Parts: sequence; C-alpha cells; structure tokens
Amino acid sequence: MTTTITELETRERLQPGLASSSMLWEYAPSLESTDHVRVAPRYELFIGGKFVEPHSGKYFETINPATEERLSEVAEADAEDVDRAVKEARRAYEKVWRKIAPSERAKYIFRIARLIQEKSRALAVVETMNGGKPIKESRDIDIPLAAAHFFYYAGWADKLEYAFPNRNVAPVGVAGQIIPWNFPLLMAAWKLAPALAAGNTIVLKPAETTPLTAMLLAEIIQEAELPPGVVNILTGAGGTGAALVAHPDVDKIAFTGSTDVGKRIQRAIAGTKKKLTLELGGKAPNIIFEDAPLDQAVEGIINGIYFNQGHVCCAGSRLFVQESVVEPIIRKLRERIGTLRVGNPLDKNTDVGAINSRAQLEKIRELVDSGVEEGAEMVQTQCTLPSRGFWFAPTFFTGVSQSSRIAQEEIFGPVLSVLTFRSPEEALEKANNTPYGLSAGVWTEKGSRILKMAAKLRAGVIWANTYNKFDPASPFGGYKESGFGREGGIHGLGPYVTLS
Ligand code: NAP
Ligand code: MG
Repeated sequence: MTTTITELETRERLQPGLASSSMLWEYAPSLESTDHVRVAPRYELFIGGKFVEPHSGKYFETINPATEERLSEVAEADAEDVDRAVKEARRAYEKVWRKIAPSERAKYIFRIARLIQEKSRALAVVETMNGGKPIKESRDIDIPLAAAHFFYYAGWADKLEYAFPNRNVAPVGVAGQIIPWNFPLLMAAWKLAPALAAGNTIVLKPAETTPLTAMLLAEIIQEAELPPGVVNILTGAGGTGAALVAHPDVDKIAFTGSTDVGKRIQRAIAGTKKKLTLELGGKAPNIIFEDAPLDQAVEGIINGIYFNQGHVCCAGSRLFVQESVVEPIIRKLRERIGTLRVGNPLDKNTDVGAINSRAQLEKIRELVDSGVEEGAEMVQTQCTLPSRGFWFAPTFFTGVSQSSRIAQEEIFGPVLSVLTFRSPEEALEKANNTPYGLSAGVWTEKGSRILKMAAKLRAGVIWANTYNKFDPASPFGGYKESGFGREGGIHGLGPYVTLS
C-alpha cells in the first residue's frame, strides 16, 4: 500500500484552520548568488603543476543535475595521461617532497587550508551546482570540513614521530586516489591531506559527474605554489580510475566508492606490492529505544537519511524502532518529512536537493519499486518537483522484512526502511545482519546501554543520540564489505606511512 503526504495535510496539522492560506506557510525564495562564481567553459588535466590537454583530445560535458544545464566540459584522461601524471608524481616524490623539511610540507598544507576558507563561498556554490546538494549543506558542512581536514593534517606533518612513537616513519611513495560524487571536495580533502602530511605525492581522480570543485582545488594548489607534480588531478570516467589502479609505479591505492568497484580494485591489485584502503558502501542501522528522547531521535533520523538526498555512505537507511514506541515515531516521522523542502539546491531554505545523476535516480526508483512489490507500505511526501533535473521525494517504508532488498541493499537516496524490535539483543542481531558495517546510531537515555550496544555493533563509526557528525580528528571507516583502513585522525595517517 502507498500513501502520500500532501502539503495540505501538513499545513492543516501545523496551522489548523489555516490550511488554505499559503502566505503563512511559504518561505520566500532565498537564492544564493552565483555572480561571484566563475566556471570556465573547459577544464584541462592538472599534471606536473600545469593544466594540460588530454592525450586523446577528448572532453566530456558536466551538468547541473538540478536543471540538466551544461556547466562546463572536462578532459577525459586515458592510460597515457595516467602514465604522465604518475611519472610527474614519482619525480616530485624523489626530488622534492620526501626530502623537504616536514615543517615546510606543513606550510604548504596550511596554505591550501586557508585558500579553501578564503574561497569557501565560490566552492560551496560550485559544489551545489555540480552535485545537486543543498547550499546549506555545502556551505556549512562540505567546505568547512574540507578546510578543517587540511588544517588538521598540516599540524601532523612535522609531528609524525609523536603519531608513531619509537618508530622510524617514512612515506609510502606515489598514491593513486579515487573518489566518489557525494562529497566531492570533502573526499578530496580526506584523501589528499594525510597523504601530503606524511610526505607522499598523489594522482587523484574525481568522480565523472562531479569534477568541478576538484578543478578549483587544482587552481588553489597552483596558487599555494605546491611544488609541481606533488598533486596531480585527472578527470575521467571509470576507465581512468582502472588505469590508475593498474599503473605499475603506484605504491598505494585509496578508494572511496561502491563495494562493487572496490572488489574489482582488490582483484586488480592482488599479488602486487600496492597498499590498499577501501571505503565502500553501507546500510547503517539507526536504533531507537523506547527511553530515547523521541523528538530529538526523529531529527536524527531526518538528518541521517534525508539531508543530502541520502547520498551518504553512512546514511541511517535502516531504522530500528522498539515496538512500544513505533506508533509515536512513525507519526512524528510522517509529520516531519511533510515539512522537508525539496527543490532548488541554491535556495538557502532547501533541505533536500537534486539526485546526483539520472543513473542514480533510476537506481533509487528501481529499489523503491522492489519495496512496493515485496509488500512493504510506502509513505511518500507529495511535493511539486521541478520539471527538469533529477528528483526523488522523501520516502519511507514500514512493514519491511529483514530479507527484502530495501532492507539489504544500499539505496543511496532519500529512502528509509523502518523495522521493529523488542529487546536490545534482537536489535543487535537484526542491525548486524547485513554485509555492510560502516556506521550505526543508538538512541537511548542509558549510558550503559550505549556502551553495550557500541561494543557489539559491527560498525566502524557509532553515533549515540546524534547522527552524521564529523570531525577531522576522529577516524572513519568500515567493517566487512564496507571496506578497510581508516581516514581521519591519527589512524588516517597509518595508510600513508611505512614504519620500521
Ligand atoms: P563508484 O561507481 O564505485 O565510483 C567511485 C569512483 O571510482 C569514481 O571516481 C569512479 O569513476 C571510479 N571508478 C569506477 N569504476 C572504476 C574502476 N573499474 N576502477 C577504478 N575506479 C573506478 O561509486 P559512485 O557511484 O561514484 O559512489 C557511490 C558509492 O560510493 C556508494 O555505494 C557509496 O556507499 C560509496 N561511498 C562510500 C563512502 C565511504 O566513505 N565508505 C563515501 C562515499 C561514497 P566514475 O565516477 O568516473 O565512474
Ligand atoms: Mg561510475
């Protein structure tokens, strides 16, 4: 069965008797200006400190998923370009970066952090235009956190002997880094900052659909006068990533993306000396006990799955509710999603923006259809979605069985599956019943229960009475098919050093 929550219903509840008066409810549009943003008509590859044409001469279009308008075109790197970039990275590693004083390395990384702060408005707007996420997310989360990661790791560059006491610390060499489209600049920062601090040089490949902030970052790196070749950025599609993985002179691969591609990479480098870290998918349980503060928990659920369109690998996409509070939680959830503002990502009031690509939208639709077919009950907000672009209305399912696809597979969209439990043991068993293990949430008033659950949940990150909170000092990473290795904190330096 499917129900839709109409806007009228939401208004009637919030302002009884005034439902037909739109004046009291609508916010005036509050569009972030794009005047201060310059997007070039074309971006080249960033190799050896210069912007260079791709070997193939090929470029591909990059669009705004909220409007389907063309924003620019970017170069498509092939295996020849990968080879050029790796050679530059190797040269910079041997001749410059591994040799300079660690405190000098720190200066460059601090400079990048400060330039990101200086240009944060433009970066936020471009991130939103190219990726579809609401401006309040890119402005308040993505860009400040990206700067924070560079600041944090700049601080470690000349203190590595304190991060790894009584050990000799050396860099690994040339790192190949491949990132996804959901947090384009932030993922670049997560990857670049620790690698640079530890003395490695890099070839970075952004995702096909979100190359633009990576190219603005290339401009920042140039402005920071980082020695040429220390960071190289190659736009392209899956084949570019595969060529980087296959290159014999890369010492380490760091990948964030789907479990499927992660497995392919693992197979491709099996038997080589390459080091590997993988940050893959997730199907996080968000567990609400009956003693939890329910209104706060509902805000946590909303933050965990609907903001950023559910394009978050650690999204709380499986909600486990203790049976005695199912009724109030569902009621509150229903009311709350009815108030989410879906629409123009550049509007400062928008909560849920555009889906990143047509392909992603189709994947979401297919999984949601499977939920309906398998007999779960769907609740969806009925909002007026823009006629162009890629959109999906906030949705949740009740009556979901553990074995159904919507409870097992990553949807990567604003879609929540609600399941129930009676005891903490049952919650643990159901929550851990997934091939993934990236993150989890626990909502309860009892500190002892939080600790007990945290010890038994098989997840790399566990939030208690909050959700989706990040800090550069805190490590992040998965268990099981969510990958291995940690990013963030001292742990995040580990994959970029060799210890003796
Ligand atoms: P994806 O298809 O796996 O792509 C990730 C990156 O790998 C992209 O840059 C992609 O390039 C590249 N790539 C594709 N095929 C490749 C190959 N054979 N060899 C090397 N590189 C290849 O994932 P996505 O669809 O962009 O991102 C969504 C997925 O990422 C979700 O499953 C999500 O859970 C996961 N994710 C995980 C984390 C985490 O921290 N664990 C964070 C964010 C996202 P193209 O874009 O050019 O195809
Ligand atoms: Mg892809």
